[in-house]
Amino acid sequence: MSIHLADLVRTIPDFPKAGIQFRDITTLLADGEGFRTLIDELAAIARPLDPDLVVGIEARGFILGAAIALAIGKGFVPVRKAGKLPGVTVGIDYVLEYGTDRLELHRGQVPNGSRVILVDDLIATGGTAIAAAQLLREQGADVLMALFAIDLPDLGGRAALEAEGVAARAILT
Ligand code: IMP
Repeated sequence: MSIHLADLVRTIPDFPKAGIQFRDITTLLADGEGFRTLIDELAAIARPLDPDLVVGIEARGFILGAAIALAIGKGFVPVRKAGKLPGVTVGIDYVLEYGTDRLELHRGQVPNGSRVILVDDLIATGGTAIAAAQLLREQGADVLMALFAIDLPDLGGRAALEAEGVAARAILT
């Protein structure tokens, strides 16, 4: 690999609140060779699984998921925060550190029996990805794998996702 992807991700202290070290991939996305390399590596993992669909989680999962879907010639489906999708939705509520949140999907867009790959930029505690995988399974989908640019292993999200039976891979830790 001629480019070191980790060097293109920056860490912003105290965002969105004090004490959080936010891993920001916008610097990687803005680097043409870096973005290409990241998508090539993620697509190389996704392609052999031959999914029916790539599903991306709002918002940075849209950027990576759509690029992976294009690279492997599959369709893309967005999972969005509550109230953003215009059509009839199905959704799931999930617990955050403080409060709850909700993810939604257009009803029927992930048909029963679909083989899907789930994509987000980063996995931390795993709460978001586990909720998205559960929502997809409730639609009858087989979640072949969850793919991330970054895993924060100290937070245990990837292990938690795998404990739910969802294989997970990340390019950077
Ligand atoms: P989790 O649910 O705790 O695994 O958090 C993952 C979700 O929060 C993903 O949708 C990420 O985009 C977002 N997130 C959490 N921490 C960061 C970060 O440091 N950088 C970018 N996104 C983050």
